[in-house]
Amino acid sequence: MLLHSYKITRTLPCLADPEKIRVIAEIPDEIHEVFPYLNAILKGCIYNHPAFTLTIKKDGKLFTLHAHHITLAKIEDEKEAEEILKWLQDLINETYEKRDQIEPNYSMAAELKALDIFKLLPGTNCKKCGEPTCLAFAVKLVGRDTEITKCDPMFLEKYQGKRTVLTELLQAAGHEIPNELLDFKEG
Ligand code: SF4
Repeated sequence: MLLHSYKITRTLPCLADPEKIRVIAEIPDEIHEVFPYLNAILKGCIYNHPAFTLTIKKDGKLFTLHAHHITLAKIEDEKEAEEILKWLQDLINETYEKRDQIEPNYSMAAELKALDIFKLLPGTNCKKCGEPTCLAFAVKLVGRDTEITKCDPMFLEKYQGKRTVLTELLQAAGHEIPNELLDFKEG
C-alpha cells in the first residue's frame, strides 16, 4: 500500500465557484512514484514530472496530487471531499499494486487542450494580447508561443476565480507563471 491515510486540514471557498469549496488534505506518505502510472491509465490528466504534480479532471472537478498533499476544487461539501479522497486512495493503491503491468507515461502537456484554456479566458476578444480572438490566444498559449501575462484583462479582480483554475492548469502542465503577476488589479 502506498497511501495509508489522509486528513483534511483546510477547507476554503472555491475561487472558481463561490458556491463550492476547495479542500486540502495532508498525506503522510510520498505518493509521487505512482503518478506516471496514473498518467498512463487515466484520460485527461495533466502531469508535471519535475514538479511531482498530477491533476485529474473528473465530472468538472479538479483533483491535484502533490507528493505530500492533495487539493480538491469545486467540491460540494466535506462529505463529498471524503468520498473523493477515499476514491483517490483506492485508485492510488490499486494502481501502485499493478504498476509492473503498466507502461508509465511521463509526458506532460499533451493533454492541455486549447478549448479548455479558452473557456477560462475572459472571452471578450478585446485583442489586448495581440491576438484577434481569445481562442487564437488559447491556441498560442497551449503551444507556448505566448504567455498568460499578455492577457491583461485576466488579472482583473472579476476574473480571479477563472485565473486561479487557469494558472493551476498551466503550472501543472509545466508553464512558468511569475508569482508577482498572480496579484489581481482592481476592476
Ligand atoms: S487580451 Fe485576453 S480577453 Fe483580450 S482577446 Fe486576448 S485573450 Fe481575449
